Amino acid sequence: MKKASLVERDRRVVWHPFTQHAMGDLPLPVKAAKGSFLYLEDGRSVLDGISSWWCNTLGHGHPALLRAAREQMEQLDHVMFASFTHEPAVALAEELLESAPAGYSRVFFSDNGSTACEVALKLALQSFYNMGQRGRVKIIALEDGYHGDTFGAMSAGAAGPFSAPFADLLFSVERVPASGGEEAYERFRSLCQQGDVAAFIFEPLVQGAGGMKMHSPAVLDGYLAIAREHGVVTIADEVMTGFGRLGPLFASSLLCTAPDIMCLSKGLTGGTMPLAVTLVKEALFEQFLSSDHSRTFFHGHTYTAHPVACAVARKALELTRTPEVAADRARIERQHRAFADDLGGFEGVTDVRVCGTILACDVPGGSQRGYLSSATRGADSFFVNRGVLLRPLGDVLYVLPPYCTAAGDLERVYEVLSEFLAARPR
Ligand SMILES: *Cc1c(COP(=O)(O)O)cnc(C)c1O
Repeated sequence: MKKASLVERDRRVVWHPFTQHAMGDLPLPVKAAKGSFLYLEDGRSVLDGISSWWCNTLGHGHPALLRAAREQMEQLDHVMFASFTHEPAVALAEELLESAPAGYSRVFFSDNGSTACEVALKLALQSFYNMGQRGRVKIIALEDGYHGDTFGAMSAGAAGPFSAPFADLLFSVERVPASGGEEAYERFRSLCQQGDVAAFIFEPLVQGAGGMKMHSPAVLDGYLAIAREHGVVTIADEVMTGFGRLGPLFASSLLCTAPDIMCLSKGLTGGTMPLAVTLVKEALFEQFLSSDHSRTFFHGHTYTAHPVACAVARKALELTRTPEVAADRARIERQHRAFADDLGGFEGVTDVRVCGTILACDVPGGSQRGYLSSATRGADSFFVNRGVLLRPLGDVLYVLPPYCTAAGDLERVYEVLSEFLAARPR
């Protein structure tokens, strides 16, 4: 009897995320990865143009990250994080606070981006509960936001096909446009004046899953100033934008004042291990201090502050902050800007935009916009067949490479992208 292939075995037992198993392409078996390349079982190599799930910043198989993981695993594999502590977590917290914009003083650990946001929302809400302001339960978010797939994060994110089955169970959220403007600020102000708003959550400068939409820091400064006037807790979801993705280490550093809470994950471990943190300022932390147990933040996960992930994150942060890696990011941005001009020349391409290491454009087509657009149908396999991993978000094409991507490899991504645009039936 012929041995079943990995894909056949996969089809029998695995349920993949964001995947309609009744349709679509078969998963590609990956054997190994190094730098910005994935190596498939069938011998092909694929250049990763989107940093896997936007997380791989420093390249796969980085020897320094491997060493950090191995050494930590040998020393202390895991321990519960209530009643115990360990060097990798404490040192990472110290180093994150030292490298983040000024004002943060506490690090709450978890293990994924959704949870980092979930924790931020719960902290904001409970801080008012602890102050006896029981009616302060409303959340404001940006239109087209994405904060993850758990219930709170899903509520805060834009409603869409992904959240539709749960629409009746999501808490209601007010939304304001990322384009700002006097009318939007007035609405934001009047919402805050109602006295029931607890928090404002946003992805600074680039809204990833919403379609790599970009906005100026000035718009956020406008909202943040009003939020602050009314004591509304401000939450920057830097899960995607953090760790140099937009150039500076954190996008929030481009804002006039640091938001009250910052959520980080993806690039935290260089995209190699699950870990997340929620950074908060001391004033918020103090709302939870009491001899009354009911004011405690009763939230935690089994693998919170995993020692191996923390050790890897320390090394990833150190590497991300080196002048060499900063120079790589600057070089990628220069290449993006040069190619953006070419991209704008293709018929049917609109709104070409660059922010740091992210290049994006719209290719509107078909009758629908967004995820359900047919404008890029077949694109994923078109790209992979040419040795490049790119996955359009509906009618949005984007490139978001690991920082280690060589100049020539990035040119190859542009080449394949150009080929796709030229071949596109119109
Ligand atoms: C990916 C992402 C999340 C969710 O992170 P997960 O680790 O996938 O749960 C939250 N916010 C933003 C901005 C993201 O890009």
